[in-house]
Amino acid sequence: MTDHHDHDHSELSETELRVRALESVLTENGYVDPAALDLLIETYETKVGPRNGAAVVAKAWVDPAYRARLFTDATAAIAELGYEGRQGEHIVAVENTETTHNMVVCTLCSCYPWPVLGLPPVWYKSAPYRSRAVKEPRGVLADFGVTLPDDTAIRVWDSTAEIRYLVIPMRPKGTEGWSEQQLADLVTRDSMIGTGLPNAPEAG
Ligand code: FE
Repeated sequence: MTDHHDHDHSELSETELRVRALESVLTENGYVDPAALDLLIETYETKVGPRNGAAVVAKAWVDPAYRARLFTDATAAIAELGYEGRQGEHIVAVENTETTHNMVVCTLCSCYPWPVLGLPPVWYKSAPYRSRAVKEPRGVLADFGVTLPDDTAIRVWDSTAEIRYLVIPMRPKGTEGWSEQQLADLVTRDSMIGTGLPNAPEAG
């Protein structure tokens, strides 16, 4: 595993400046093609993204055999749908139930399952989220507008360079007979991080 893992992201703006400076130097000296860099970024912003994860979740909701494979070996089950690649080598799916709600954080930096969720949102990389998600997950959920029953346990998973987690939310009630595509449209990015819930059928 040769994952670059920078654990000091406290100076984000400085990091951005350094990245920009580095990019200029590499481009000026012919090491990188700016068009190729743009293509790489565009790929993760538009082609690879939470819609991939939503397709995985919807399939898990309608296909019990797929669901079983997903919780046995998520990386392989996700690859069945054609989603694989960088930062997705070892994905673990965690199941929300009536009694347990799962939430994902990377306390050290911003490890995230790129093939299914794309690039992490800014708040995921922020120091307040990284520290509060573990210490007061219920408070964080409240900030995201999510209130769970008091007897629902909240389990927080700390992502690493080795293991990245995908939350499989509960299927919304009132969606019996819905197609995978209809169901996938209810799956939000935050519901797969655990800071949100899927949309209700009425809202979808
Ligand atoms: Fe990380």
